[in-house]
Amino acid sequence: MPLPRRTFLQTAGVLAGGLCLGARHVTPPGSPEYTGQVMTVTGPVAPEELGFCLPHEHLLSRFGTDPAEPSAYDAAAALDTVVPYLQYLRELGVGAVADCTAYSFGRAPELLRRISAASGVRVLTNTGWYAAADDRYVPAEAYSLAAADIARRWTGEFSDGIGDSGIRPGFIKIAVDAGPLSPIDAKLVRAAALTHRATGLTIKAHTGDNATAARQQLEILAEEGIAPGAWTWTHAQNMTDSRPLIEAANRGAWISLDGVKTRYFADGATHGNDTLDRHLAHLMELREAGLLHCVIVSHDGSTFPPAGTVRRPMDILSNTFLPLIRARGFSADEISTLTVTNPARYFTIRRRLLE
Ligand SMILES: [Zn+2]
Repeated sequence: MPLPRRTFLQTAGVLAGGLCLGARHVTPPGSPEYTGQVMTVTGPVAPEELGFCLPHEHLLSRFGTDPAEPSAYDAAAALDTVVPYLQYLRELGVGAVADCTAYSFGRAPELLRRISAASGVRVLTNTGWYAAADDRYVPAEAYSLAAADIARRWTGEFSDGIGDSGIRPGFIKIAVDAGPLSPIDAKLVRAAALTHRATGLTIKAHTGDNATAARQQLEILAEEGIAPGAWTWTHAQNMTDSRPLIEAANRGAWISLDGVKTRYFADGATHGNDTLDRHLAHLMELREAGLLHCVIVSHDGSTFPPAGTVRRPMDILSNTFLPLIRARGFSADEISTLTVTNPARYFTIRRRLLE
């Protein structure tokens, strides 16, 4: 993979560094294509066009089923289920949703494009390979390819589109299993770092309560000259201790508190555990540490399948959690930072290199 030229601004340390501050800047020579924009399934947009953004959801997902790429869906049933739900979210103010369903368990860019066009909600899809779930969704060739070859494939999806769709990914999605990084986990993290260098796409890494793996991932990024601000501690709400999250955010990493759930859904049914207390506790700690600018919040919801119903809702932020944190003293500006400003900066295509 050709290394990008170091630019004057990078050399001067203006663009480099670990802080996820995302200041506006002039596109330096040698920057990735679409620098300063956000890539959606309907094409590039200015970051401020996202509005209230849900940065980690699953509009379409076949997680738990056998690996398949591309994934087949009943498109009519998917449109009938997902479009009205997104229209409802739009009435709640949602302008954009990132679909985090990865390669081989349900990524479907063309169907997402139809859903986005029909609903008026902007949608992002992803590139990358998912190595949690005991590597079930890791393609066989990942074990023989070098990290640079894998990165070339993912970078190709950004430069040429996914498959024949012409649709480009808006971020990189990877995932690691429990415990220290396995060799395949580490290789895919390195491939993500190289893909970030080539494309400027942000890395969303399913990490959960694995603080060891979080540190190891940042080490691999550093070996490749990539700043922590290119990387996301995804499912960070699974940590019981906020301190490693604060440590990572202080280095510039993004913290994704993305499994906002309530036990009581609109249909009156009871589902799983209420996570609101833990999300609130993490948010309070991160706010106390002055790190709200490094936090994104979402549901990790799931809309299809099944047809006609929503498996995991995406309206709890609007209806329950944001009113809750408002009542607990978060200002309207802070809520806007979490839901609008941060996702816009988060998805902005921009190479984030160490000095
Ligand atoms: Zn997810």
